[in-house]
Amino acid sequence: MAENLERLKQRIPLLEYLQRHNWKPCRAGTRQELVGLCPLHPETRPSFYVNAAKNLFYCHGCGRGGDLIRFVQLFLDLPFHQTVALLQQELTPAPVSRLLEETAAFYQFQLHRHPEAIRYLGKRGLHDPALIEEMGIGYAPGGNLRRHLADLGCSFDRLLDSGLISSQGRDAFCRRVIFPCREDGQIVNLYGRSIGAAFPHRLLPRSKGGMFAWESVSGFSTVILVEGLFDLAVLWQAGFRNTTCAIGTQLTSVQLTQLADQPSRTVYIVFDQDENQAGQKASHQLALRLQDAGLAARIVQLPTGHDPNNYFVAGATGADFTECLERAEQL
Ligand SMILES: [Zn+2]
Repeated sequence: MAENLERLKQRIPLLEYLQRHNWKPCRAGTRQELVGLCPLHPETRPSFYVNAAKNLFYCHGCGRGGDLIRFVQLFLDLPFHQTVALLQQELTPAPVSRLLEETAAFYQFQLHRHPEAIRYLGKRGLHDPALIEEMGIGYAPGGNLRRHLADLGCSFDRLLDSGLISSQGRDAFCRRVIFPCREDGQIVNLYGRSIGAAFPHRLLPRSKGGMFAWESVSGFSTVILVEGLFDLAVLWQAGFRNTTCAIGTQLTSVQLTQLADQPSRTVYIVFDQDENQAGQKASHQLALRLQDAGLAARIVQLPTGHDPNNYFVAGATGADFTECLERAEQL
């Protein structure tokens, strides 16, 4: 406890705290002391002394003195433990989600300044500006995120910790279309799809929340489950709002629980059809897991070689997709 208090006082120097609360020294006193009007009592002649080196204050007017915690206690008229809690709160960094919100907003702004990104979205079948806006899709050109977040007061360590920049200070996302991944309305990760030669998929390595994009489908009695965010986007665009996506073919236990909150629900699994049958195998395994959770599962076959995204890019309509759903077999 004593150690924690020492650390707290070191991390919020008394002078810095005072100055943040508009205390202005009038003149330097003796031995590295600063003197100003006392914030704790009304006075016209400065008698409030601060020793920055010792991190202590003393007022010759009201006779009170002590360290940062003592000052805040008197200043805000709070009991000791509440004062400590308040100061500790000041040191807690903003939650990751806020950092990710800032980042997503920045990338969203960049999207419209980079025609190559809009062209890429078009190539992947995404044309509806309202949907692009609603999904919060952005673009990371690379090279400018760090400066932007630093301007907002974000420390290098904090950015490094979030995974948004590398230890060399480079943006983690470069030339990638960005999809914010939300959980309960909060951004928990960012997914970046390369529009160049780099490895196609990228998520932030560490995040407090889940690693998956997951749109709540709680209101729907039938749910369409797809692998990728572009699958999700084209299906939403075609009006299938009961679609959700797990980025990949595995569901977390939380996601499974959410799906099972309506026991009579039917889940249509529409994974990629791979030549090596990996997608088919994953579909089958997941269908069994869903059935164990009390759900009806159907595996949807798209024409050979198609995933939902390129099926729509190839010209399929909502009616075509509905036909595929209707043909889907129950296990
Ligand atoms: Zn005083």
